[in-house]
Amino acid sequence: MTNCKKCDTDVSKVYECEHTEFEEYCKECYTELHYYLTEN
Ligand SMILES: [Zn+2]
Ligand SMILES: [Zn+2]
Repeated sequence: MTNCKKCDTDVSKVYECEHTEFEEYCKECYTELHYYLTEN
């Protein structure tokens, strides 16, 4: 298992990209981050 860098939740699948500085995020945190990015 991997912990999300942001919310520290154990998740089986993690997401990463340049916006998260390639740290591992859970789906919720990743989606939330991109939601704010696309809003601006
Ligand atoms: Zn998270
Ligand atoms: Zn991204």
